[in-house]
Amino acid sequence: MSTKKEALVVANFKMNFNMRYELQHWFANFIKAKKGIRLDSTRLILCPPFIHLSSFIKKIRSKQISFGAQDCFWEQKGAFTGEISPTMIRSFGGKYVIAGHSERRRYKGETNKIINYKVTAALKAGLQPILCIGENAREKKHDMLFSVITKQFKECLYDVGRSRIKDIIICYEPVWAISANKPDHLPTTDEIMEAKLLIKKLLIQEYEGPVSEHVRIIYGGSVVSKNVSEVCIDAGMDGVLVGGASLLPHEFVKIAQTIDL
Ligand code: PEP
Repeated sequence: MSTKKEALVVANFKMNFNMRYELQHWFANFIKAKKGIRLDSTRLILCPPFIHLSSFIKKIRSKQISFGAQDCFWEQKGAFTGEISPTMIRSFGGKYVIAGHSERRRYKGETNKIINYKVTAALKAGLQPILCIGENAREKKHDMLFSVITKQFKECLYDVGRSRIKDIIICYEPVWAISANKPDHLPTTDEIMEAKLLIKKLLIQEYEGPVSEHVRIIYGGSVVSKNVSEVCIDAGMDGVLVGGASLLPHEFVKIAQTIDL
């Protein structure tokens, strides 16, 4: 992992903490798990459901922890019933937003074009997008890693200029590895490195070398403390996106500690 860049450990809590007591329980256990633990070069980014963003910001205060949202709309304000704008997220304390998660592509029909509108709107509002790209099981079977990632990269980042690319975090998240809970559903270190090299190549091709050096590339998909060395450290990634394991505060902190070593 590059020593110059702060590593990122992003929690995607998804649609959890349905009941107030579940949230209180998570806060209490997280505070306990985090007590006495110093992270020197790792930032935690907590992305709760919109409705809990303010509670997280009020409850958890640490220089090493930032907050984000799991999605945003592509307009900043107006008659868009039910939507949340990037400006709202930013002005209520969020600094990051996940864009292009495969679950939104799957259940909400988000296309690369829609994701591109969201990325652009997020940047405009001063948020750092965490852009998820990666192949699904069928595409993997047909050896389509190169074409899928190239298309997603180019279309989702369309019109994102050289001056803004450093604000993007790219998450390589193979869809087939999300919440898989099976050992053979985890990419090998080499497979993750291959995806990283491809993303690096695209960055250098589309933007100049020195600018692209600032872009952090993280890994997402079934990360737990037991495999984080393999999928992050050994693969030279700049951090991880954590779904299921982020609901377990001790496990989540352990992942961050391992990366920070
Ligand atoms: C995710 O969906 O972004 C994710 C990383 O989930 P999990 O860790 O549960 O695979």
